[in-house]
This record gives sequence, structure tokens and C-alpha cells, in this order.
Amino acid sequence: MEKIQNYINGVLQAPISGNYIDNIEPATGKVYSFIPDSSEKDVQMAVDAAEKAFPLWSNTPYTERSRIMEKLSDLILRDLDALALAESIDNGKPVSLATEVDIPRAESNIRFFATAIMHFHSEAHVMENRAINYTSRKPIGVVACISPWNLPLYLFTWKIAPAIAAGNCVIAKPSEITPMTAYLLSKLCIEAGLPAGVLNILHGTGPVLGNAIVSHPSVKAISFTGGTKTGEHIASIAAPKFKKLSLELGGKNPNIIFADCDFDDMLRTTLRSSFSNQGQICLCGSRILIERSIYEKFRDAFVEKVAKMKVGDPLDPATKMGALVSESHMEKVLSYIDLAKQEGGKVLCGGERLQLKDRVEGGFFVSPAVIEGLDQKCRTNQEEIFGPVVTLQAFNTEDEAINLANSTIYGLSCSIWTNDLKRAHRMADRVEAGIVWINCWLLRDLRTPFGGVKQSGVGREGGFEALRFFTEAKNICIQL
Ligand code: NDP
Repeated sequence: MEKIQNYINGVLQAPISGNYIDNIEPATGKVYSFIPDSSEKDVQMAVDAAEKAFPLWSNTPYTERSRIMEKLSDLILRDLDALALAESIDNGKPVSLATEVDIPRAESNIRFFATAIMHFHSEAHVMENRAINYTSRKPIGVVACISPWNLPLYLFTWKIAPAIAAGNCVIAKPSEITPMTAYLLSKLCIEAGLPAGVLNILHGTGPVLGNAIVSHPSVKAISFTGGTKTGEHIASIAAPKFKKLSLELGGKNPNIIFADCDFDDMLRTTLRSSFSNQGQICLCGSRILIERSIYEKFRDAFVEKVAKMKVGDPLDPATKMGALVSESHMEKVLSYIDLAKQEGGKVLCGGERLQLKDRVEGGFFVSPAVIEGLDQKCRTNQEEIFGPVVTLQAFNTEDEAINLANSTIYGLSCSIWTNDLKRAHRMADRVEAGIVWINCWLLRDLRTPFGGVKQSGVGREGGFEALRFFTEAKNICIQL
């Protein structure tokens, strides 16, 4: 079985401890490879390599950094099928999703920032006849990028691409639950000619390796995507040391449906926004709020379609819903279904562990669940489940919809379905979220600011926002 390796100073290598963790395929429940159990000593090696590489990389012309990154994206495109297969095996997501979404997006993340750096600019402020101010933007130095398991290569590249494009050297950690495509990326970085030490990819657990990375005094900035609790912990380490922080955290996103929407389009998209990637996308709409006059019509049509969704082997090209990422995550999701019942919810369909056959008989499969009859204040409607579970609630007025939408600690994204243009603007203005989609979902333009409000995060990724995060601004004032 394959032993994944760390990528430090341009070389693939074993963890210093020599210890490995089992890597389990979610669709089978079986160990299929081994992950380095890296620790502080590996972090020190990576930091040494990154510090050594920084003077050269930060002074490499941006056109040359861009060229190397373009080469890297070409290689991702070349290996698209192999990467998609690896992502599907490692994560349990349908191979069709990895082929159509995850890997193409990883490729465009790198290409986007390879070109964005060519157009990045800083400001000048002229004070009448007295002075000129100009702002210089320099890379920060050694920075950390830590990403979660739900969109492994997609979110990993979303962080490292702006960091290296801006001239930083990176210590990156994918989730230990889904390390494989980050490992394959290491090999492509070597092939693309990325100089040694510019990107170091370490594998291991959050509490040991992740903690050692964020605590290291030479790591000047941290870009983190993951759960709100982990974000809070990282902030508690980083804040007293004045490290720059970007936090993309959890969500409990509302999907607000008005009676005047285009019903068929809404229904099709709501199936996707509820259950894509088995509901394990931070942007999934897990609370569906429906105008009362179409509540029954929506519920019946939605449940009919959800009950027909086929959960199957992720490697079958026809599968649209695969396995949950791990046994412990599946248990967590199932415990929320039990909780919903205890809280008085009615499970309209799904919510059960599925025992599939043959190759995938030991896999972590759960049928997609739709629940109604719950109060907004209950835990099921307040806490992030991050699985194939949605709740339905009816509302009468815009005010009521806004109160329901805004009544959690989260504020990541929101979808609004209406053909009334003025109402769409009113609702978008009042909803507490960093991202609002009107009559669509997950339509992404990589130039736009991406992130959440309240406990969904701090700061914004995307476009020049990310390049600003990974640079320090210095104002220089020249008296005329
Ligand atoms: P976690 O917070 O558990 O983990 C995220 C990453 O942090 C992993 O690489 C993890 O490592 C690492 N980590 C864990 N503990 C520490 C620590 N003490 N110090 C440093 N790093 C640590 O999240 P999940 O992986 O479970 O991902 C799901 C969460 O991510 C959901 O809440 C989801 O909403 C959120 N998310 C947010 C997005 C956004 O853009 N706002 C996008 C996607 C997901 P390891 O896994 O090895 O333990």
C-alpha cells in the first residue's frame, strides 16, 4: 500500500518520526494507504526551507512566478482524470463530481492567480501640490495554509495559489482525512519546476501538526478553512502573536423560496444546493425557508425527487451521491437525525445508514434526509450538520423570512428565489451573509470577495482580496 510523503524543500520524504496513520477509503471503510504522522520537527524543517527560499522567490519577477504556476495548472489539466479518481477514492465523492468540479476548479485556482498577479496593483494618493503617497505591497514571508476535507484539492489550491503568486513561501497542510491529491500535487510541483522550499506540504493531524504550524513563530500569516471551533482555537494562538489571519468557517445557510419564483428551476437547483457532495459543502443551503402559499407544493415535489436520489459507489460514473467522508462524520450526521426526531421533527425521507453491496458494503453511506416541523431555535436548525440533511420551514412575510434566515450564529451564504426584482434587492440587503445568490447557487466568479460574517469567518478570499491578504502594505509619502 502506498505511503504518502511530505514535500519539504522540493523533496518527497518520510516524516521524521517514521510514524504513519491509516488512510481509509470512505466507500469501502478499508485502509488503502498511509499518511505521515508529522510533528514539530517536520514543521521546523519546512520552515527552514521556506525561510531559505523566500529571498529568492520574493524577488523572482512576477512574470516568472506566473509562468511556473501556469505550468502547474497545465499539469493538473493533463492529470485531470487521475486526480479526479484519487479525489473520489480518498473522499467518497462521486468521481463525476470530482471530474466536473473539484479538479477543474483546482486547475483554475492556480491559473487564476497566475494571471491575477500580472494585474495586481497598489494605490497612489496625491495631496494637491503638497505630497504624493504610494503604497508598496510586499509578500509577508513564511505563511501557513490549512484546508479541510470536503473539497480537498479545490480548497487547498484556493489558498496556496494566491500565497505563492504574491511571492510568499508556504507551509501547507491538507486535512489528514483527505491527503491524497495534495500529495499528488507535490509531485506536479516538482515537475513544474517550482523552486525548492517555496511550497512545503506536510501531512498529519490537526491537533499535533496543525497546531505546530500555526504556533511556529516564523509563520507570519495563517489562511484557514474549517470548522468554527477550530478557527476559534487557531485565533487564540495567532492573535497574541499578532499573526495575520484569514478564517473561512462553518455555515447554516438559508435558502429562501418565494411563491413567485421559477418553480422548476428552483427545485432543480435546490436539490443540488442541498445534497451536492453529500451536503458536505460549506455553501450548501441546509435550512429551506418556503413562502407558506407554496409550502405543500414544494415539500411534496422536493421529497418525491429526494427519495429517488440514488446513493451509490462513488467510482460508478452514474453515481450522483457517494459516501460520507468518514465513519465518525457519518455517526455525527446520524446523531443529528436522532436529535431532530427528539426535538419533534418529522423525517419525510432518508436519514438512514445504507448498506450497499459488493465492493462498497462497508462504506459510510447515508440516504438524503428532509425534515419538517422543527422550531428555528432547536439545535437541528442552529448547528452545522454538514451532511445530507435539510430542514423545511414556512414563512408568511419578508420580515419573517429575514428573522429566520438571520437567527443563527453563522452568516456565510444565502440563496433567494423570487422574480420580484425589488424584493430580491431588499432581501439581499437585509440578510446577514457574505455571499448572496439570487435565483442561483454556487455560481462563482473567482474575482469576487468570498467569505462569511458573524461566526462564519473573518476576512475575504478571492481575487485581489486574497493577494492583499498575502501582502503587507507600506505607505510611502513624498513631500513635493
Ligand atoms: P476542521 O476544523 O476539523 O479541520 C480543518 C483543518 O484544520 C484540517 O486540515 C484539520 O486537520 C486542521 N486542524 C484541526 N485542528 C487543528 C488545530 N488545532 N490547529 C491547526 N489545524 C487544525 O474542519 P473539517 O475538516 O471537519 O471541515 C469541515 C468544516 O469546514 C465545516 O465546518 C465547514 O463549514 C468548514 N468549511 C468552511 C468553508 C468556507 O469557505 N467557509 C469551506 C469548506 C468547509 P485534520 O483534518 O488533519 O484534523
